[in-house]
Amino acid sequence: MVAISSKALKILEDLFPNRLLTGSEALPYGVDASQLCFRPQAVVLPETKEEVLEILRLADLYQFPIVSRGSGTATTGSSLPIEGGLVVSFTRMNRILEVNPEERIVVVEPGVLNGDLKEYLKKYGLFYPPDPASYAFSTIGGNVATGAGGPRGLKYGTTKDYVLSLLVGLPGGNSFKTGPTTLKGVVSYNLTPLFVGSEGTLGVFLEIYLKVIPLPPQRTLFLLYLPKEEEGLSLIGEILLQGLTPASAEFVDKTSLVAIRENLEGLPASTEALLFLELDGKETEVREDGQFLEKFLKAKGYSFEKAEMEEEIEQLWEIRRIIAPSLKKLGPKKIADDVVVPRKKMREFLKFLREWEKESGIYIAAFGHVGDGNFHVNLLFEEEKKDVAQKVRESVLKKVLELYGTISGEHGIGYTKRPYVAWELNPLQLEIMKKLKAIFDPKGLLNPHIKWP
Ligand SMILES: Cc1cc2nc3c(=O)[nH]c(=O)nc-3n(C[C@H](O)[C@H](O)[C@H](O)COP(=O)(O)OP(=O)(O)OC[C@H]3O[C@@H](n4cnc5c(N)ncnc54)[C@H](O)[C@@H]3O)c2cc1C
Repeated sequence: MVAISSKALKILEDLFPNRLLTGSEALPYGVDASQLCFRPQAVVLPETKEEVLEILRLADLYQFPIVSRGSGTATTGSSLPIEGGLVVSFTRMNRILEVNPEERIVVVEPGVLNGDLKEYLKKYGLFYPPDPASYAFSTIGGNVATGAGGPRGLKYGTTKDYVLSLLVGLPGGNSFKTGPTTLKGVVSYNLTPLFVGSEGTLGVFLEIYLKVIPLPPQRTLFLLYLPKEEEGLSLIGEILLQGLTPASAEFVDKTSLVAIRENLEGLPASTEALLFLELDGKETEVREDGQFLEKFLKAKGYSFEKAEMEEEIEQLWEIRRIIAPSLKKLGPKKIADDVVVPRKKMREFLKFLREWEKESGIYIAAFGHVGDGNFHVNLLFEEEKKDVAQKVRESVLKKVLELYGTISGEHGIGYTKRPYVAWELNPLQLEIMKKLKAIFDPKGLLNPHIKWP
């Protein structure tokens, strides 16, 4: 544990009266969705970028760790104060600073919630597509730092495709922009992508410049009842080969369906798994594509439900959103990964998971954004099966790499997946990453023990 000296703590108390938490009220900032818990020495709630820069100046001067935190919904421990130090919570820096409809650019503070931004942009007819399932309660700062993705990734990409530039603060209290804030610009190396997914280890985001697009006026959702789960995985490739790009292709595998089945009235008995296919865009385009897809699915003998009204569509999507909380029914303990494999390897991967499920006797849910080849693999088990679960996890990650996949598509490495980073990256890649970190954070004060082994 690296302590904040009493002198530094006193300075912080004077600077942030009522906004520096040190007692039991600091404890909630030591947990996230990973189920881990580390006690912060203090938590500070800055309201301006100048305040954050002053915190960074003090951190460098008095050598204490800084852990950036949005809503704390990370599943990997990436916002946790592993060795104590100061948690900087961005929840009060939640202003939308500028909307520029002509340029299709918005500027936000890091603590703006993704869902609030989406709602705010509607009145300008604009849309910010990245939509992690946590969009209603996760921050843009957290989304950028994890490179968050979501169901719409298939057509629209993920957070990385919408970050134009970042104003970043560094230990010592200086700040810089990672790239130009114009729609084009090649003067400097473009550092923006380096910071997307950096999990708070390279710098602290003070302002975020985002690209936005016109709000698609029409949506149509098809919910397919799959008699065999693996069929849904081949179907995506077949649909793409028809020249159709759904906004989302989201999979509810058979184990996840076991967990939520009792919530679903009228589900055909033969249904083993579900596939959500959403189309969006201009009205005529969605109508034509919808007719084409309907014919295509009928010709293949699938049963499905089709929703065109906003309310109906959102009700159906609720089925997908209840998976994460419902999985607890299958086991009190959980190991969660968000792996990606090439689309054409998805069936092989699912078969591998089912073989392990049978052999190990633990539940393996594998739902998620399969349009991108991204599975949320959740192992659910009783405490006494924890060694078996660990063995299964390692075997699953090895299989992912054997299939030329990656061990994390969007949730990041955080604290929990660090032991596996060297399985995917070779020593040279790791050395380059560490050298890059040292450029921005030479004393290792930002999010210690996160991301790199
Ligand atoms: C129910 C549920 C569903 C989820 N679904 C998805 C999903 O579909 N897709 C997906 O990608 N993720 C998903 N997640 C994971 C999580 O919501 C995302 O990783 C999200 O981006 C984290 O945002 P946050 O505001 O909670 O950030 P935190 O959890 O607070 O922090 C995440 C990381 O961002 C860093 N950070 C935060 N603010 C800053 C800043 N200003 N400057 C620098 N670094 C910063 C932190 O240090 C940390 O490394 C889900 C989580 C839950 C609980």
